[in-house]
Amino acid sequence: MPTDTHTKIIATVGPSSATKEQIEKLIDAGVDAFRINFSHGTHAEHKARVKVIRQLEKEKGRFISILADLQGPKLRVGTFKEDKVLLKEGQTFVLDMDPEAGDENRVCLPHKEIFAALKPGDDLLVNDGYIVLSVKECSKNKAITKVKVGGYISSHKGVNLPNTQLKISAITQKDKDDLKFALKLGIDWVCLSFVQRAEDVREAKKLIDGKAWVISKLEKPSAIDDLDAIIQESAAIMVARGDLGVECPIQTVPVLQKKIVAACRKHARPVIIATQMLESMIGNITPTRAEVSDVATAVYDGADAVMLSAETAAGKYPVASVKMMHNIVTQVEKDPLFFDLTQTSRRRPKDSGEADAITFAASELTCILKNVKAVVSYTTSGLTTFLAARERPYLPILAMTPDVNVARRLALIWGVRPFINKRTFKSFNNIEDCAIKVAVDNKYAKSGDHIIITAGFPLNVKGRTNMLHTVYIP
Ligand code: PGA
Ligand code: MN
Repeated sequence: MPTDTHTKIIATVGPSSATKEQIEKLIDAGVDAFRINFSHGTHAEHKARVKVIRQLEKEKGRFISILADLQGPKLRVGTFKEDKVLLKEGQTFVLDMDPEAGDENRVCLPHKEIFAALKPGDDLLVNDGYIVLSVKECSKNKAITKVKVGGYISSHKGVNLPNTQLKISAITQKDKDDLKFALKLGIDWVCLSFVQRAEDVREAKKLIDGKAWVISKLEKPSAIDDLDAIIQESAAIMVARGDLGVECPIQTVPVLQKKIVAACRKHARPVIIATQMLESMIGNITPTRAEVSDVATAVYDGADAVMLSAETAAGKYPVASVKMMHNIVTQVEKDPLFFDLTQTSRRRPKDSGEADAITFAASELTCILKNVKAVVSYTTSGLTTFLAARERPYLPILAMTPDVNVARRLALIWGVRPFINKRTFKSFNNIEDCAIKVAVDNKYAKSGDHIIITAGFPLNVKGRTNMLHTVYIP
């Protein structure tokens, strides 16, 4: 097994990582969480992969998070008569609701919400932004556009509307069916694509009904406008740089990454950096220097997790990609500058309460007291552990929860090692003994070390972290 890192690694599963043998290799190389991408694959395939991950979780004796990523309202053009047609700069091109196959003059765009929202002057980006269409005139079911940037267009290419807020829910009918299925499989997190406003997250949470936690994928400019509200409404955030780099000018992606990471830190929400992290490893055994630097930057920025997409789902070198990511993370985390940066970038909202204060103090103690080896975080809902991770203590955070679902979800979070504790405590000594046992049995601490405990008083009452305790292990 590789050494545990603070920053977690997520691997997307797909054809290159479908068998038990392959998934086991990925776990052994350092994966903490798997993403099931509902934009690809069948329900039967997803079911088989979840089953294998859960089996391996049992065999390895460590909790693994599973993320179900819903496709969301990915907008696409209809079909063309030919394989592809060339759109020339300056020509007129019409988008309409007619399902008839398209040509160099027109194509179907089967989304009436787009026509309802379009205004002259708006830009439509087709095929990851390679083609730009500028709207000249628009009615209820037709838009006349001028080709601003030309290129080849073909059937079902994606369409992005960066500056238009569409009156469409972040959850389509396909998403609803996929969500129902994913929840039945017992996944831990649901990723919502193309979130535009906090209301999108509230809508999803009603459907999910507490059975999983929501990760909002930030990939629309309108989401950035509503950033704080979306973060607070979500359990976690993904910087979805693929679509973000199409919807926003590509040079703003690193700037937005830093802004989003900082905002998540403030609100104590885990944040994932995703897409193209080791892209060239889809086909090559070594990444580019720029990719290595990009992964390192995400770790220095303070991400909770870094994610692999096609590298592990469809690439030639899934295990090498995870090993490479693990090596980069480990190298950065050894750098004293990394610890300094995580400490100086601490922030907290104005309305901080008891639990914020206790988890902050716990982290401070780890720097002052000698031989502290772990922070033990008693939590029922998981929230206190979010707060503990926000402070980035440079030690493992041992999360003790009675709920296996919470334990699995917490495996995604910076520095957290989840454990199950089902005991009800009769006295404070029990809390201490139980924390020592978990820390020592799992080799996080030994005789002569200290551990730090945060918990609630009165004992066994949910939602109250008001106690901080240092323990010397005799
Ligand atoms: P996707 O999301 O791979 O589902 O599109 C990630 C991204 O857009 O970066
Ligand atoms: Mn996306």
